[in-house]
Amino acid sequence: MILVTGGAGYIGSHCALRLIEEGRDIVIFDSLELGHAETVETLRSASRGSKVEFVKGDLKNRDDIASVFSDYDIDAVVHFAAYSQVAESMRDPEKYYYNNVYGTLNLLSAMRDAHVDRIVFSSTAATYGEPEYCPIDENHPQRPINPYGNSKLTVERIMDDYDSAYGIRSVRLRYFNVVGADGRIGEWHVPETHLVPNVLKSVLSPGGVFSIFGTDYDTRDGTCVRDYIDIHDLIEAHILALGYLEGGGRTDYFNLGTNDGSTVREVFSECEAVVGSKIPVKECARRPGDPAMLIANNTKARDVLGWVPKHTLNDSVGSAWDWERKLSDQ
Ligand code: UDP
Repeated sequence: MILVTGGAGYIGSHCALRLIEEGRDIVIFDSLELGHAETVETLRSASRGSKVEFVKGDLKNRDDIASVFSDYDIDAVVHFAAYSQVAESMRDPEKYYYNNVYGTLNLLSAMRDAHVDRIVFSSTAATYGEPEYCPIDENHPQRPINPYGNSKLTVERIMDDYDSAYGIRSVRLRYFNVVGADGRIGEWHVPETHLVPNVLKSVLSPGGVFSIFGTDYDTRDGTCVRDYIDIHDLIEAHILALGYLEGGGRTDYFNLGTNDGSTVREVFSECEAVVGSKIPVKECARRPGDPAMLIANNTKARDVLGWVPKHTLNDSVGSAWDWERKLSDQ
């Protein structure tokens, strides 16, 4: 079975769904602090005969995660469970180190005890910090500028040591900006901070106005540039990474992005095109900690994993819009 930690959250649930649709038996491990019980139910109902088990537990509690390995026959782990808000990590770093680092240590320790030697890990472009050049390849220095990025980089380093000492092989996938939804499940953060869902929520809330954070960046239209990767393409990379480890691949790390960037204004215009109407907008001050530009060089994932992202920003915003309307009707 494949263990999916954080499988009731946004990206974890899309990975769980894809594994279920491939007929793999999975165990979802989630505290439901940020994930949703409704998402687990949707995942269960997607099963066509494969096992979809759910364990409610917290990685910070070593017994919670250790018991998963004694109760189920786990072959590999896909590890999503983490806090991921940069601003919150600056206010409360302990929360991030305790959960993201200590929680992952408990997971790795339980893997070692159970002789499970393969893990795919959700890392982040935030491990690179302020870009020294763009597009960013995997050799770019990793100097995070916030506790969230530090917590993910610390886990990457721990994983190297766990490979050297205990033979646990890892693939670390460094996500850029993920957008889109399956439709049965989707992005469901409370509170929501991300660009596309915030634009779309402003359309659905009476009197809603979308806020652009910063219009004085040194970019083509003054707003930040990000590399938006579709959730389906992102999940495809996880499936390839699992296959890579199953085929004996060694520990490695890959950027997941499109090699291309869009400004906040460009994404906003794409949202207007998908929604089919003008969206009220106001220009606000910069959000602290936002670099002007983050674009991935994805050559390594293409070459080593054979990964080819296929979806456009229009696809991603379209599927996010379908999901937001469904969510607002619930
Ligand atoms: N952004 C914005 N308004 C919002 C949310 C985000 O202008 O309500 C901007 C944000 O400042 C950044 C970009 O959109 O430049 C992407 O932000 P997001 O939070 O989606 O992802 P991040 O890059 O922080 O991972």
